Amino acid sequence: MIYRVIVDVQSQDVDRIFDYRAEGDIPVGSRVVVPFGKKQIEGYVVGTAKTTDVPSEKLKSICRTVDALPAITGEMLSIMRFMQTRYHVTAATALRQFLPGEMRRGTVKESVEQFVRLKEGLDATALAAEETRSKKRAELLLFFADGKTEKLSEARKRYGVSAVNGLIEKGYFTVTEIQKNRVPLSEASVAATPVTLKPTQEAALKKINESKKRVQLLFGVTGSGKTEVYLRLIEAALSQGKTAIMLVPEIALTPQTLTRLRSRFGERVAILHSGLSAGERFDEWWRLRTGKAVIAVGARSAIFAPLENLGVIVVDEEHETSYQSESNPRYFTKEIALHRAAYNGCKLVLGSATPAVESYLSAQNGEYELVEMRERVNKRPLPKMEIADMRKEMRRGNHTLFSSLLKEHLQTTLEEGNQAILFLNRRGYSSTVICRDCGYVAKCAHCDVSLTYHKGENRLKCHYCNAQYKMPELCPECGSPHLKFGHVGTERVVMELQELFPEARILRMDNDTTRTKEGHYKILKAFSEKEADILVGTQMIAKGHDFPSVTLVGVLDADMGLHFSDYRSGERTFQLITQVAGRSGRADKSGKVILQTFTPDNYVLDFAGRYDYESMAQSELSLRRATMFPPYARIVRVLASGTDEKKVVAAIKTAYENLEKVYAAHREEFIFFQKMKAPILRLQTKFRYQILMRIKEGNTSLLTEIYEAALPANTPYVSVFVEENPNNMT
Ligand code: ADP
Ligand code: ZN
Ligand code: ZN
Repeated sequence: MIYRVIVDVQSQDVDRIFDYRAEGDIPVGSRVVVPFGKKQIEGYVVGTAKTTDVPSEKLKSICRTVDALPAITGEMLSIMRFMQTRYHVTAATALRQFLPGEMRRGTVKESVEQFVRLKEGLDATALAAEETRSKKRAELLLFFADGKTEKLSEARKRYGVSAVNGLIEKGYFTVTEIQKNRVPLSEASVAATPVTLKPTQEAALKKINESKKRVQLLFGVTGSGKTEVYLRLIEAALSQGKTAIMLVPEIALTPQTLTRLRSRFGERVAILHSGLSAGERFDEWWRLRTGKAVIAVGARSAIFAPLENLGVIVVDEEHETSYQSESNPRYFTKEIALHRAAYNGCKLVLGSATPAVESYLSAQNGEYELVEMRERVNKRPLPKMEIADMRKEMRRGNHTLFSSLLKEHLQTTLEEGNQAILFLNRRGYSSTVICRDCGYVAKCAHCDVSLTYHKGENRLKCHYCNAQYKMPELCPECGSPHLKFGHVGTERVVMELQELFPEARILRMDNDTTRTKEGHYKILKAFSEKEADILVGTQMIAKGHDFPSVTLVGVLDADMGLHFSDYRSGERTFQLITQVAGRSGRADKSGKVILQTFTPDNYVLDFAGRYDYESMAQSELSLRRATMFPPYARIVRVLASGTDEKKVVAAIKTAYENLEKVYAAHREEFIFFQKMKAPILRLQTKFRYQILMRIKEGNTSLLTEIYEAALPANTPYVSVFVEENPNNMT
């Protein structure tokens, strides 16, 4: 038999199928070891054939198969082909997404524990009497006389390896293997409390179930009980013998969702995410592949979960940017989810309180089913938002970070024994250090960005490459002692807050305080157990947390996002504000939200203050149609990066020359086409040049031409890649 094999090498040069021969029967999808050049490497069997063009003296044989069960399913091969055509990645790159990295490198093994017991119906005492030559064997038999089960290792320790093995060989014992699972976050499970669905939830489920459409947009306000709807959908899938995938933006930030899934479905849930230890990831993967677990939960990459026969795919907080992969392979999670949903004939449920306007448009077009839940489970109105005009505060001589309105409400919240959340999307103490006399700005030596001051460590840090520097006492340029701090960060908020409320217990949650494994979980747990009164944090506190005692949310710098030049900054600001505001007043207490801003008249804040998603979406969409931005156009960026600036420039020139031909042939499809330096010319010691394009939406063959023109500019020294609608244009 001829086997068609893709070798596990990411390079474009070997991105094709190789033929091998083998005796016996190797199922398609098996991982195999094959001779390749002078080495032996891993590969995947993707098909079989009767004949091959390879002359028989050159045809090599497969050395061996790696796993007992094919690691790659037929569906994965279909996703692989989809990724190859859609994102122009190599087959090996696509296939790598399906397996935990440790598995490919062979650095972890399945951890199994073996147990022994006497076979049914054997008389241990009689057999022991026959073992006249070995006292150990006789004792061993008597030990198991009462039918007990013992670990094989333990039995060997007590009675010796040879005695135990001897009796196993005689067929007296049954040996069973039990997989020892390293179950992550095992603490995160509580007893399930049965809930009766609210009428809005019933109605939403009914609409989803009766819909003929593949994609369901579950648009439910914060606290409307979307999670319960997901759980019911998953339950229904399982009861039909099917499986389910549930995606969350960032698993570390959603321990509560995990807890709810665990308490409802127990061991049938497997978690897939990068924060797990290698062993945990490996075990969870195999539990899914072997059908021991039937629900995969995780962030973006869990969309590649090794499940078959999917009954539903849920993408929670579908508007989150983390669903877009920004490193190789660059893919859109929702596109892969849609591919899998179509493959399995199941529904894809996208849920959010603030859908991406793209999704909202698809729902308006009738492409997606729009399922709304406009009421909170507790029937209370959404927390009232009040705007604090920081310009007025300044004029009144209040130069602190907190408006008098916020201070007052913090005071009452503390007095009433409730909790508050303060949100500021900037970590550290201060974003910049500037010399008042000469204008010097402290910058990273490896990146073209200014450094952030961290007071706790008294150091300057680069938030792009993590490089650290000593905080200078004098200006390195002019020697002036007058160094001033720019924008405020979370660290400084906590310090000033503590001065203002010395009694208050304050927790901070940002990238600096959550570096350890399960670090997020610990902070969230402490806050939910009321070990603190105020939680200060970056956007990681905005996610779906459910803290019943939170009655006040303060957004310290509501217009911060509005000043970015990104075409989505309005939408993003609206989403963030709505999400953080949604943390307030979720249980039986009413909540309150205070937005501090220097631009109180901005239309986005106005919509956000009234929770008017539709008006925001309509106004964003008409603006984008007028200016030709996504979803009406597609931004395509070709980025070249490398440490040798000359080589980067040469590579971008090659790409540009190729792309100019595409541009010339399809001029009417282009809205924009230009070559330039990237906004941050140097990042992590690499120089970056880009070609920026905007093309009309819906032309997939033009997109293919762009990829095919750009990618050949790759060299061993310069990486050239294509990004579509990138989240981050640095
Ligand atoms: P969302 O994800 O839409 O913001 P959640 O799913 O977190 O909302 O639900 C909000 C709160 O309401 C949670 O504490 C949840 O346990 C509770 N809840 C949801 N559905 C019900 C129900 N049918 N009965 C009682 N409580 C519910
Ligand atoms: Zn200076
Ligand atoms: Zn840097």
